[in-house]
Amino acid sequence: MTERDPYASLRKEMVNFQLAARGISDARVLEAMREVPRERFVDPVYLSRAYDDSALPIGWGQTISQPYMVAVMTEALDLKGDETVLEIGTGSGYQAAVLARLARRVFTIERIEPLAARTRDLFEEMGIGNVTVRSSDGTQGWPEEAPFDGIIVTAAAPSVPLPLVEQLAEGGRIVVPVGDLAFQELLIGRKKGGRLETRVSTGCVFVPLIGRFGWQDERR
Ligand code: SAM
Repeated sequence: MTERDPYASLRKEMVNFQLAARGISDARVLEAMREVPRERFVDPVYLSRAYDDSALPIGWGQTISQPYMVAVMTEALDLKGDETVLEIGTGSGYQAAVLARLARRVFTIERIEPLAARTRDLFEEMGIGNVTVRSSDGTQGWPEEAPFDGIIVTAAAPSVPLPLVEQLAEGGRIVVPVGDLAFQELLIGRKKGGRLETRVSTGCVFVPLIGRFGWQDERR
């Protein structure tokens, strides 16, 4: 007999009311988010809020993003299943786990080493084998694994980091929250003829992208 998943109905409600009802229509994205157990990625203190319509703290002053924002950003990549994707800002690993169901290979970078280590352990525990986690400054990308069909930045950038544009494949898509530290616009770009064509999706608020091609860390 299979064990009953006590979170399955919460997940279904999240997908129906927070995502589909607000316009997320990519069936593969909806299916992936119906499957990935968000409760495994939240801080245990917030377990009862795992399917809230909000971002939640994950320690080190960082957050797991709001489910709707994860869906909007994932849908913008228009993944079909055979892509190599780079994520900047691993955080809890939730976004990477969603991507892992939709792309062939995922590379994800987190600047806070303990968060990267925790996610690596969790992926091993969960049997997620197509994601590689590294701890470094993601604004410089991952040149050894480039080019990427999709790049997703899950922290607020002052502008699109140039190395990421360089590491994007021709025809590839990039999603980046760009703005100041208080408010950003979600920029969706596609590389055509070596140049990035962009459009603005929605307003958003993310923690800062700190690094050489992001914001400077004031503590240094
Ligand atoms: N995608 C994450 C998830 O699913 O939980 C949420 C990411 S959280 C909003 C943003 C993350 O970006 C933080 O964990 C932060 O440490 C990380 N970050 C900020 N600047 C970075 C950089 N230059 N390189 C890599 N990670 C960075």
